[in-house]
Amino acid sequence: MSNRSIELDDRIHAYLMAVSLREDPIARRLRETTAAMPEHNMQIAPEQGQFMAMLVKLLGARRCIEVGVFTGYSSLLVAAALPPDGGIVACDISESHTAIARDFWQEAGVAERIDLRLGPAMETLADLLSAEGSNSFDFAFIDADKSHYDGYYESCLALVKSGGVVAIDNTLWHGTVADPGVTDRDTEAIRALNRKLHGDERIDLSLLPIGDGLTLCRKR
Ligand code: CA
Repeated sequence: MSNRSIELDDRIHAYLMAVSLREDPIARRLRETTAAMPEHNMQIAPEQGQFMAMLVKLLGARRCIEVGVFTGYSSLLVAAALPPDGGIVACDISESHTAIARDFWQEAGVAERIDLRLGPAMETLADLLSAEGSNSFDFAFIDADKSHYDGYYESCLALVKSGGVVAIDNTLWHGTVADPGVTDRDTEAIRALNRKLHGDERIDLSLLPIGDGLTLCRKR
């Protein structure tokens, strides 16, 4: 027995999926459509999406932010988990990726809950801060260009309420963050943010080894 997180080999991963994944057929088709694209690894794992939908329900979240939409898998699942008057402000720069997202949101019946803002997310978040003010959202998910992660985190932390959560994707970055020999810009940006979060007294912190690493920051 061990008090460490279990290592998921293919067999254990397949078992985990077999006994826990409950994937909506439209979400599954979106994932399969995206899997054929060259950038497919930008999509989160389905078990992570299911966890985030659960988290949003546990939080009783109504107003959410997503930084980095890609083809819309996580926003579809989170939107479906919100109450009828809930909504997501979804930020991305890609017209073509979000065109796929919009089709599937429509089909899944969640399109009216998702406010897609095309443009640099730092600008959209600044607009939100001036229009809505700080402490006005319940949940934010950051999964976009890693060089801006610190800025996205600071903006989202301002935007969420006390007790709200900022979730940050890819915080284990294929394990490269733990390899001192890897010093590219993205790896360094994630490493720096991970170090900062560890000492950040504004939040309660948990880094989950799900997907490529998902850090939950609960605003105090
Ligand atoms: Ca990601």
